[in-house]
Order: sequence, then structure tokens, then C-alpha cells
Amino acid sequence: MIRVHDKVFIPFISKTEIQKRVHELAEMINAEYAGKKPLILGVLNGSFIFAADLFRELTIDAEISFIKLASYKGTSSTGNVVTAIGLEEDLHGRHIIIVEDIIDTGKTMSAFLPEIHHRHPESVKIAVFLTKPEALQYDVKADFTAFRIEDKFVVGYGLDYDGLGRNLPDLYILKDQ
Ligand code: 5GP
Ligand code: MG
Repeated sequence: MIRVHDKVFIPFISKTEIQKRVHELAEMINAEYAGKKPLILGVLNGSFIFAADLFRELTIDAEISFIKLASYKGTSSTGNVVTAIGLEEDLHGRHIIIVEDIIDTGKTMSAFLPEIHHRHPESVKIAVFLTKPEALQYDVKADFTAFRIEDKFVVGYGLDYDGLGRNLPDLYILKDQ
């Protein structure tokens, strides 16, 4: 058991299991994107470790860049808009693989995807370290998912609890009180 701030977490997915699964995802991407020189777009901060590990396992030609998401309130017709900060690449005609740490309700990703599609990429897929199928409320689907987990809060492997825990090599799950 470990403590982060005021909460107790228990080991959930080991770094060995993570490494194995990341390798499997990379193999799928290697097979599907050979000759396509995909642009991996990592969403900061949470995905930085997953994106780095996944990228290192790619044996095909691929590029990587990182963005931050900022959300603001759009008009009533657009709802909440999530815009990418630091996106300088020309996405036109490119094969994009968005890399996220976790899709929880799907709100962030569903608000952000239009920003990517507006830039006319050739294709867009999503690679995500974790999804919580029970928590999903928006119509987004990951194309590559490392692990599907129950609807509980997790830390480690890049994911934080109030700023801490990102450097834990394994994934931990909140202990029932
Ligand atoms: P969504 O918009 O899909 O509801 O939420 C996505 C964001 O919520 C993630 O990028 C992440 O920052 C945060 N999040 C959701 N569930 C968890 C979790 O279990 N642990 C951590 N550390 N962050 C989470
Ligand atoms: Mg995030």
C-alpha cells in the first residue's frame, strides 16, 4: 500500500504487465501504420510516460509531438470547446494517433476531436492507456486501449492525484475506505 496526499492506494497493474501490453499495442500500430509515417500526438501531462514507452516500441517511421488541452466555454451551440496548445504541426493529410492517459467520461476527448478534424488530417485514431467503460458518457471510442478498468480512481505511470504519483512505475488504485 502507498499513500499519496491523504489517500491510500493499492497495487493494481504492475510495470511488467504494463510493459507487455504497451508492446502489444505498439505491434498493432507497427502493422497498421507501416509506410504511413504517423504523427503521434501526446496529450500532456498525463500521457507523457505512456507516449514515451509506446513511441520507443515503434519500429516504423513515426513522429511525435505533445500538446496541452485548454477548455473554455464556447457558444451555446458549440458547448465546451477544448483547444490544443502547442500544436504547430500541419496535420493536413497526416495520419494522426492521439495518445491519452485515460478516457473516463469521454468529455475531454469528445470536445477535443473536432479541433483535430478541422485541420483535415488523413486519418485520426486514439490510443489510450486506460478506459473506464462504466464511466463513459460521451460518444468516443478508443482504437487502441491498453487496459479497461473499473470506475475507480488510479494513480501512477503518468497519472496523478493532485500533482503527485506520476512517477510511480506501477499503477495503483484507490483503496476502499
Ligand atoms: P474525461 O474527460 O474522459 O472524463 O476525463 C479525462 C481526464 O480526467 C483524464 O485525462 C485525467 O486527467 C482525469 N482522470 C479521469 N479518471 C482518472 C483517474 O482514475 N486517475 C487520474 N489520475 N486521473 C483521472
Ligand atoms: Mg489528462
